[in-house]
Amino acid sequence: MRLLVTLLLFLGVTPDGDADLVIRGATIVDGSGREGIVGDVAIKGDRILAVGEWKGSATTTVEGKGLVAAPGFIDLHNHSDTSILAEGTRDNYNYTSQGCTTIVTGNCGLGTVDVAKLFHGIDEKGAGTNVIHLIPHGALRSQVFGSQRRPPTEDELAKMKDLVDAGMKAGAWGLSTGLIYVPGTYAATDEILELARIVHGYGGLYASHIRSEASGLLESISEAIEIGEKSGCPVQISHLKCSTKEAWGKMSNACALIEAARARGLKVTADQYPYVASSTRLSAYTVPSWALEGGKIAERLADPEQGAKIRKAIAESFEKRDGPDKLVIALFAKDKSYNGKSVDAIAKASGRDPVEVVVDILKSGDAQTVGFSMRDEDMAVGMKKDWVATASDGSAKRPSDERPHPRNYGTFPRKIGVFALEKKAFPLGFAIRSASGLPADILGLKDRGYLKAGYKADLVLFDPATFRDQATFEQPDRYSTGVLRVYVNGVAVIADGKNTGALPGKALRRG
Ligand SMILES: [Zn+2]
Repeated sequence: MRLLVTLLLFLGVTPDGDADLVIRGATIVDGSGREGIVGDVAIKGDRILAVGEWKGSATTTVEGKGLVAAPGFIDLHNHSDTSILAEGTRDNYNYTSQGCTTIVTGNCGLGTVDVAKLFHGIDEKGAGTNVIHLIPHGALRSQVFGSQRRPPTEDELAKMKDLVDAGMKAGAWGLSTGLIYVPGTYAATDEILELARIVHGYGGLYASHIRSEASGLLESISEAIEIGEKSGCPVQISHLKCSTKEAWGKMSNACALIEAARARGLKVTADQYPYVASSTRLSAYTVPSWALEGGKIAERLADPEQGAKIRKAIAESFEKRDGPDKLVIALFAKDKSYNGKSVDAIAKASGRDPVEVVVDILKSGDAQTVGFSMRDEDMAVGMKKDWVATASDGSAKRPSDERPHPRNYGTFPRKIGVFALEKKAFPLGFAIRSASGLPADILGLKDRGYLKAGYKADLVLFDPATFRDQATFEQPDRYSTGVLRVYVNGVAVIADGKNTGALPGKALRRG
């Protein structure tokens, strides 16, 4: 059908039947990087029927004058592994309201190892966006031999390989690592390489939250490139950043390293969110990974010698990011009054040393934290690269008493609305490509990411005057504005600026 439609359109023949929907006279930005041209987009069923001029009729006509029609955005780096299956967040409205139509889960070595089960959950009830999955190395390692700080035995490695093989057979698109997290951080390069070779056999990619985004930034990028070069997998550097004073000013060097590999013919790309703060567990920001082995942090803190070492590391982690006011608690289950307050503020209010605030939180089960550790200058260098995709590192959410990172609600309109349209840091076509055609090419998606006849009808219609993020670090759960319509597989998930509640998103299996 797709071939036939493409052929007929090429010959200038209108295919049989009417379109279900036509958007007339919008500025079409097609995901290729080209700037917009005014024209129509026609849809029939779950496919795009025509892009440019539609002379036929349509059941529904949408006036697109003054609006931008673009391919639905693909969030390469997302953590909705559980929330995309949960009743209250399955519609993924904090992403559809940004223009997203596909998310990639299983990132940073975290999430669901059982690919078939995740996809089955989407098959059964649908979702607001399509879902693509990576096999998470850390979770896989943990499933086979827990959080032990040692290499796998031969038998354990064989089990890990079998799980990777099963995941790829079930339709995963590659392998992800999180080399700062327990237990992924305990893996040597060779262990990852063994698994990446299996992934390469299926044509998948290797995505990595690299070993260090701080003092070891360049060595860590080199490690990821080495794994790609030796395994044959394309390499995706996750959330590219220069974190803490130790890495400030190094973005050009980091990019040069990647560009040198690309010049050698390797497929190396990256993704980035447009914010100077990151977000993860407080333990990952403050404590060396040896202290977290086996989940025994509380015991080690109680030990005089080890406890002193850990406290020293916590104090050093403050220094590297210019003080404990740069760590803001997003969600602490034991005491929600901490949410939105910095470690420094909590210390002052309770008369404790900031180090002891962290110690107390770690003893009672850790806290999701927002960490300010980057500089605008470094971010700006990465943003302008044509091999850097826009991705959020967030997850499907609803407003709550959590104080999450605003990237969950605002990544795409921030990059496109604020940086391209308002600040004119780069052209609109470039910004839209970073969120659509580029991530589709990185994944090897054959029929999404571009507005093209025959492609799946995943698209967004937004008003360039109002397409902006509204989420801030102080008020992070505010939905973005300016998105008027979003279609996923031809079905509206947003119509007239409102959430329809439809769940047309599919599990997208590779191959
Ligand atoms: Zn990560």
